[in-house]
Amino acid sequence: MNLADDILIVGLGATGIATARFLSRLGKRITLVDEKPEENLGPALKALDGVSFTGRFGPHRREDFLSHPMIILSPGVDSEHPYLREAKAAGIKVIGEMELAYTFLESPVIAITGTNGKTTVTTLLGEIFKKAYGDVFVGGNIGDPLINHLLAETRAGYVIIEVSSFQLETTETFRPDTAVLLNVTEDHLDRYRSFAEYRDAKYRIFENQGPEDYAILNANLPPLEGVKARKLYFSTKGELEEGAFLKDGTMYVRLEGEEHRHERAVSPLVGIHNTENLLVSLLTAYIHGIEGEVIEDVIKTFTGLSHRIEEVRRINDIVFYNDSKATNVDSTKRALESINGNVVLIAGGKDKGGSYSVVVDQMPKVRALILIGEGAERIREELGSYTKTYVESDLSGAVSRAAEIARKGDVVLFSPMCSSFDMFKDYKDRGNQFRALVEAL
Ligand code: ADP
Repeated sequence: MNLADDILIVGLGATGIATARFLSRLGKRITLVDEKPEENLGPALKALDGVSFTGRFGPHRREDFLSHPMIILSPGVDSEHPYLREAKAAGIKVIGEMELAYTFLESPVIAITGTNGKTTVTTLLGEIFKKAYGDVFVGGNIGDPLINHLLAETRAGYVIIEVSSFQLETTETFRPDTAVLLNVTEDHLDRYRSFAEYRDAKYRIFENQGPEDYAILNANLPPLEGVKARKLYFSTKGELEEGAFLKDGTMYVRLEGEEHRHERAVSPLVGIHNTENLLVSLLTAYIHGIEGEVIEDVIKTFTGLSHRIEEVRRINDIVFYNDSKATNVDSTKRALESINGNVVLIAGGKDKGGSYSVVVDQMPKVRALILIGEGAERIREELGSYTKTYVESDLSGAVSRAAEIARKGDVVLFSPMCSSFDMFKDYKDRGNQFRALVEAL
């Protein structure tokens, strides 16, 4: 890609900082904008010591967006902002950090997208590839922005990245060697005009692929037209001639005339959704020539990530699970499916505009529903008639209520179905607060 000499970077988080470092090495003139006021950006500005740039902070100004030939966006930035639309209409090149980094990459790229499971699969695959090949960059939408791979002294031999729909909106030539689409269910309807628009953003992961590349798809999703890569499917519902599937408790991978098997029970991860995550990881690892023994060693010991159906404590035969990362309704449905027995469900948070009725078929096991946050009323309207429902003013009230209602053998599940930004810094803060409240019971 031809980079302009004068570049505007939007967003001064970890990604904006890394992008500025990278572009400054290339000798570019950099302007950085962020809507936060300068006094809130202290640590970020400190991280840019030694980089020369012009900073403009506080509310965005139109002239900043129209006076640079090229704009690089951080992942959280809305590419439909009116100034960005205007810039694009004026012929200014607007791309995301991932696209920028991609154009400089030499290592094979494995990219993972989907509504849920991205971080779990990216992390698990990262572990498998590290054990097999040592030298792997794991990042993208989680942790390390892709551009950090380029800043490293020695560049890793494989790149495994989590990719969000927002990042895919701002790609042009991005072409992963292996692209995984885990699932697409309702999410982010506060930001997309329709489900179709959100889904189409996810499909962009396959857009530039060719016949030498691999596209890994969920056999439960409607068939996808126009994918030029070699398609391989994963399924928990039936045997496949090629691909990865679960049958009678065994996970199979069939690839190029060979069959590989792993018992599902070797993995400590619970739930059908995690079977899907495992199948995808096995398939991707075998595509890249990794030995079955290496894969088995890693899946045996990978216990999953914090804030995803994470056991916090058992009190009087009641188990408390923290699933704060469940920020949409399908992830909560999956958590409920993974649990046998009765559940006291704590949910609610910032409503994203989707429907909560997806969990209705799981409601018979929900002994009580305890709601908090901005979304509480909407959830009560949709689900309140299925079980006893309480609305509490904060998480502390919700945890006390749950402890009071739960009986021996029950599970108390905190799986919000909503994002955390109404009452918490992020899902981690929310999960940590839940944990502390449960510890204090
Ligand atoms: P993401 O990075 O896509 O948000 P995570 O791995 O962080 O995905 O998991 C987010 C939430 O979704 C958690 O509540 C987790 O239990 C649930 N989850 C994980 N994998 C899947 C899957 N394959 N399908 C549906 N839900 C999943």
